[in-house]
Amino acid sequence: MSGREAFLSTMAETLAGIAAEGLTKRERPIAGPQGTRVDLGGRLMLNLCANNYLGLADDPRLIAAAGGAMQTHGFGLASVRFICGTQDIHRALEARIAAFLGKDDAILFAACFDANGGLFEALLGPEDAVVSDSLNHASIIDGIRLSKARRYRFANADMEDLDRQLRAARSDGARHVMIATDGVFSMDGYLAKLPEITALAETHGALVMVDDCHATGFMGPQGRGTPHHHGVADRVDILTGTLGKALGGALGGYVAGPQPVIDLLRQRARPYLFSNALPPAVVGAGLAALDIVEAADDLRAALFANARHWRAGLEKAGFRLLPGEHPIVPVMLGEARLAQAMAAELDRRGVYVAGFFFPVVPKGQARIRTQMNARLTRADLDLALGAFEEAGKAVGAI
Ligand SMILES: *Cc1c(COP(=O)(O)O)cnc(C)c1O
Repeated sequence: MSGREAFLSTMAETLAGIAAEGLTKRERPIAGPQGTRVDLGGRLMLNLCANNYLGLADDPRLIAAAGGAMQTHGFGLASVRFICGTQDIHRALEARIAAFLGKDDAILFAACFDANGGLFEALLGPEDAVVSDSLNHASIIDGIRLSKARRYRFANADMEDLDRQLRAARSDGARHVMIATDGVFSMDGYLAKLPEITALAETHGALVMVDDCHATGFMGPQGRGTPHHHGVADRVDILTGTLGKALGGALGGYVAGPQPVIDLLRQRARPYLFSNALPPAVVGAGLAALDIVEAADDLRAALFANARHWRAGLEKAGFRLLPGEHPIVPVMLGEARLAQAMAAELDRRGVYVAGFFFPVVPKGQARIRTQMNARLTRADLDLALGAFEEAGKAVGAI
């Protein structure tokens, strides 16, 4: 066997292993825009699995803003920001994000994955420490791996463990200590305990970094996110987030924080220095999205009313949910096969959901993660509840 043949046969074996465990992920092409209904191969399905919390992904105002920005600023930049890729609208969007979140400044990245990937390495050295929640998003985990800071991990939302790890970091002589957490843990819809986390940070002289991807736009007053929701915005030092969820759902990430932090990231963050500027369409739509979102109390009210109605209906039908208020509503099923069977039954009934199982969630905690959208109507939800009830009975989940 040649070297190339041997390599490709290793790839094929790995793929066969993934398939044998029933863990192959299959992508289903949607013909048309993201919305409360999606066209899956000619079938119009009710969609309960997008991060499209405010329903802006196909909003005509964003499409118009994107088109307008392309007319005035062109299609692409063909440059990283620091060479010749910064337009006036990039700086305008950064200032707009910073003002929205109540921070000095912000810096755009191609995605929040890149924002988290570049942050820790640029800001922390080997004499520093990061204390990270065990359920943090993969991009935070990777970003911490790329930094030379010493790593401490605390059990998800366990404040005693956080206190222990902060003490350990201090007694190991760390110069700066940064706590890193998701604002909302996306598999469960649980909110990070920011009041306790920021209080512990104060006690131990630590900084707090929050990734608010599953909150920006709809949690807290005007959708300013979990730090504002908990009333601790001035005690959260650094925020990261995405334009790829509630804020229109295209792509683009950012870090917002104190001026020296943003200035240093512009000098040192590798995904910023070595990757292309965001395209004008995305930047123009991002500016419009923030204007819409800031004034969208009606959409936020509809979103949370939907979440309450949906939770109550599922509970009444006998499903086991994780408690909470967030529009992520996980329906707990236990075994992966049950979650897969349930997703298939729902599919047959015109409801599009995603099953989550190991390794994305712990073994025995397989689930269907449903997500609410402000634009789903009561009739949509009641139709979906009927489908869940039938499907749940068909697979023996209720
Ligand atoms: C979605 C998500 C990301 C990645 O955001 P992109 O902009 O899509 O790269 C990072 N962190 C968290 C917590 C997320 O939910």
